[in-house]
Amino acid sequence: MHQVETSGDGSLTGLWRRLWRRPDGVLADAGRQSELVVARVRVAVTALLLLVPLANLLLQPGLPEHRIGFGVTLAALLSTIAVYSAVRRDRRPPWLGVASTTFDVSLVSLALLTYTLTGQPLVSVNSRVAFEVYFLAIAATCLRYDVRLCLLAGALSVVQYLAVILLATTAYDLSAFPEQIAAYGNFDWGSEISRLLLLAIAAALSSVIVLRARDLRRLSALDRMTGVFNRGHFDERLPVELSRAERVGRPLSVAMLDVDHFKEFNDRYGHAAGDVGLRAIAERVRLMTRRSDVLARYGGEEFVLLLTDTSAELALEKLEEIRAEVQALVIELPRGLGQATLTLSAGIATYPDDGTNAGELVDEADVRLFRAKDLGRNRVVGGGLSATLHRAG
Ligand code: GH3
Ligand code: MG
Ligand code: MG
Repeated sequence: MHQVETSGDGSLTGLWRRLWRRPDGVLADAGRQSELVVARVRVAVTALLLLVPLANLLLQPGLPEHRIGFGVTLAALLSTIAVYSAVRRDRRPPWLGVASTTFDVSLVSLALLTYTLTGQPLVSVNSRVAFEVYFLAIAATCLRYDVRLCLLAGALSVVQYLAVILLATTAYDLSAFPEQIAAYGNFDWGSEISRLLLLAIAAALSSVIVLRARDLRRLSALDRMTGVFNRGHFDERLPVELSRAERVGRPLSVAMLDVDHFKEFNDRYGHAAGDVGLRAIAERVRLMTRRSDVLARYGGEEFVLLLTDTSAELALEKLEEIRAEVQALVIELPRGLGQATLTLSAGIATYPDDGTNAGELVDEADVRLFRAKDLGRNRVVGGGLSATLHRAG
């Protein structure tokens, strides 16, 4: 079941497993695409956040906490700009999500910690603006479609904030700062525990939002009837996979598959039986593909298969295997109609020999599919003269 991530069975263990699951193909892609959105949001948010210490600094330039706040926020802004420009240049290492989540949360803790280190422990534990930024860091993880990052942000903020409190309370007698008490209030474990709980709740809420977004994203990428991807998802993935193939200098093949004489099948057994046949074929082909391949229903009784890192020769071999498997597949028809078989024809086009963009490849695969039909159906046509495999047996 590698193309479809199941929604879980609703039990606690099912939920636990869903929480720790790595995003599947659809979501990993969405996460990668949203890395640019996240990077942009981080720049925008830190630029806005800079307004607060800037205003404080202009109003009361003498106060050290205002200088600290401004310095830390400015450093944060510069680092978010650096990450944004790296992501724009397509430099997205797999650890980027973990690193920038850890960085965002730790930066807030560092800002809070600095107040204690400069003799203002009550500003650390009763901070009115810096503490709230933890919530922004937790909320930003939602954009990455990865629950594990929400949980990481939640756990880090709870542990680090607890460390900030413990440091302030053990290093200082907090009742000895009347000026800070007047400005920021007394130290109170009750409200500190509430703050810790709120951080944990924010992380839990973000995780639920991500799980829900994952469900919706998955639904939008799948063909409801056959359970394989839909055409919209294929159209999105093909250019992405093509640019990856170009970058790494590897081939990529696209195959168009069409069920033979399917109208006759429908006319003979009815549309419900036709649906059963389409589902059976989709399931069989899907089980024969790799995790990195994309099988999608292109429309009606046509499917398209994207074979990453696959040369014309290998694609032809693979499609011939698929053709033979489908021919041998016994379809159990509904309503006591017995059993039936179906065959399919396929046309293959390969990057870079047959085309360098999505349109060219799909068109060429389609032309070859027509040729397979003309040659008598139940066959595969790829590139080159020797690449037509004839009906077996
Ligand atoms: P060929 O070998 O040339 O491909 O012939 P064909 O009969 O398969 O092709 P044609 O385009 O004439 O007919 C396709 C049929 O597929 C017609 C349509 O009713 C049927 N079809 C398309 N989508 C579905 C579906 O979701 N369920 C069912 N049961 N039939 C479908
Ligand atoms: Mg057709
Ligand atoms: Mg057909």
